[in-house]
Amino acid sequence: LSTNDQIEPHRICVCVRKRPFNKPEMNRKEIDVVSIPGKGVLLVHEPKQKVDLTKYLDNQVFHFDYSFNETATNDLVYKFTAKPLVQSIFEGGMATCFAYGQTGSGKTHTMGGDFIGKQQNNAKGIYALAAQDVFTHINHKRYANLELSVYVSFFEIYNGKVYDLLNKKTKLRVLEDERQQVQVVGLEEVYVSSSEEVIKLIQMGSSCRTSGQTSANTNSSRSHAILQIALRRSDRATSLHGKFSLVDLAGNERGTDVSSNDRGTLVETAEINRSLLALKECIRSLGMNSDHIPFRMSTLTKVLRDSFIGVKSRTCMIAMVSPGMTSCEYTMNTLRYADRVKEL
Ligand code: ADP
Ligand code: MG
Repeated sequence: LSTNDQIEPHRICVCVRKRPFNKPEMNRKEIDVVSIPGKGVLLVHEPKQKVDLTKYLDNQVFHFDYSFNETATNDLVYKFTAKPLVQSIFEGGMATCFAYGQTGSGKTHTMGGDFIGKQQNNAKGIYALAAQDVFTHINHKRYANLELSVYVSFFEIYNGKVYDLLNKKTKLRVLEDERQQVQVVGLEEVYVSSSEEVIKLIQMGSSCRTSGQTSANTNSSRSHAILQIALRRSDRATSLHGKFSLVDLAGNERGTDVSSNDRGTLVETAEINRSLLALKECIRSLGMNSDHIPFRMSTLTKVLRDSFIGVKSRTCMIAMVSPGMTSCEYTMNTLRYADRVKEL
């Protein structure tokens, strides 16, 4: 902890993570179009076609705070992204970490880990790693006199509606009072005393997220999942000290998919587009220290309102990309989006 004392996390940190090829991609001998030649650098070898119909590769270069290649573990990614934010919530800040990218690019692997539903094989995600660190900090003498308690909530946003993942996907209302305070009415907030308890809640919520074929929401790639770890002063249960929101965003590929004729899909697509656009605008306002944060643009940004205000707000975005040529267009969209939220 002490070695971290001087390190101020960036106000906005934007990183990229490339996942390894999966079996089907290897079987069909997909071509790797993403390379990571150095710290924070990422290259996309974009296949293009000249007017004379000859093919060539156009190399696109992107620069981020960190770039993680396919050999990076969740532990490593965590260390440079969410870990510095854990300390900031103990200092009374609001921290938010987003996983952004197309479906199948590794958002849930990074956030939830791969142990969900399977045996625990050390592939913990950022949710669990952050929870562990929270309990390490709480026992540290530096914070002991604050007498902080830890509370967890876990919900998803689908089509602009909030569903509680810790309470049988109950649909909840989002209210804003005259002081612009946003509240998710009736959201389950569970008191926890160990990281193991948090992991149990994550597993419970995650299986709740993917179950329930009868409800409108049958595909988790179309919803945003938000895990919140709140620190409250024990002496006054209502007094919030700091909060960490960890967000597994909906797949952004729908943003480019306008071919569908299905009304439900079109509504979904519009809603996802709207929320991801709103998120971009809010993070940019945070980066520019703007007084006007357009958080009302979507439910996602409404419930995260506190994350975009105040000098102690910290945000980290991890843009996930697939390595293959067939994902190239989505990869470029993801990288352009991530490039736009970087602090100037
Ligand atoms: P998303 O949530 O973005 O749709 P997932 O996290 O579900 O994507 O990842 C899709 C598949 O790829 C999963 O089977 C997951 O285990 C695997 N995967 C993703 N990222 C990695 C990684 N960095 N290393 C190994 N496997 C990964
Ligand atoms: Mg997912």
